[in-house]
Amino acid sequence: MGKVLAVTNQKGGVGKTTTCVNLAASLGLLGRKVLLIDLDPQGNATTGSGVNKGKLAHTVCDWLIDAVPLDRVLVHTDTYDLLPANSDVTAAEVALLGEEGAEQRLRTVLAGARGSFDYVLIDCPPTLNMLTINALVAADAVLIPVQCEFYALEGLTGLLETIEGVRTRANPGLYIEGLLRTMYDPRTGLTRDVSRQLIAHFGARVYRTVIPRNVRLAEAPSHGLPIACYDRASRGSAAYEALAVEVIRHSETERV
Ligand code: ATP
Ligand code: MG
Repeated sequence: MGKVLAVTNQKGGVGKTTTCVNLAASLGLLGRKVLLIDLDPQGNATTGSGVNKGKLAHTVCDWLIDAVPLDRVLVHTDTYDLLPANSDVTAAEVALLGEEGAEQRLRTVLAGARGSFDYVLIDCPPTLNMLTINALVAADAVLIPVQCEFYALEGLTGLLETIEGVRTRANPGLYIEGLLRTMYDPRTGLTRDVSRQLIAHFGARVYRTVIPRNVRLAEAPSHGLPIACYDRASRGSAAYEALAVEVIRHSETERV
């Protein structure tokens, strides 16, 4: 049974999508079968996977709301499978809002598919909306990318409350798989301070791997490639490979 990880933080631009695409590819290169679900109408994970979001026959919305079979929506890349998104996915949010049991929709639809994958990663939009709630209800665990800057910790409170609410209401097994320090620049005092605070508060739940600020990571999406395919020798590529190893270690040894 595949492990479902919601990659989420309602703060924008903290590296959710970069983490989804590159972790998916790194897990794929380590021989794992990975499904990446783009649940963000911005469709950044779709573009970053080299898929033209303007020319999609189907989006994740068709699978989620209109029962279009998974294999008709799936796009295969060299290292993982993708359920793509574009602005049509805002319709999914609207459709869910009017529906009974709306929070459970992704969990229910995914139940028939997760057995075919080792890992399912969900790229969430930068809001705590119904799509994000669906991801949290469907997930086994949450991966929270955090940019080590001044407002980072403040934003986490709302997310932790939401996770707690989902745990109480709908998904008691949900746990925090890890907090990932992204765009990490150890030369700045603030980065080191926030990093220390994160470790003080979350302890071992902070991944040992840090993702450095690395221009090759920022360039890769414009080529529609994960970093491991765009520039395997870069520091960004090494970091996401290390993260994949850490995620595998958590999932396949400590928690079997
Ligand atoms: P949103 O909230 O809009 O969905 P996000 O949390 O998914 O954003 P990304 O899109 O992954 O964040 O990253 C935001 C920007 O920062 C992008 O332009 C991305 O290329 C860049 N970026 C992300 N991680 C790094 C990094 N480690 N080094 C350099 N640039 C990065
Ligand atoms: Mg994003």
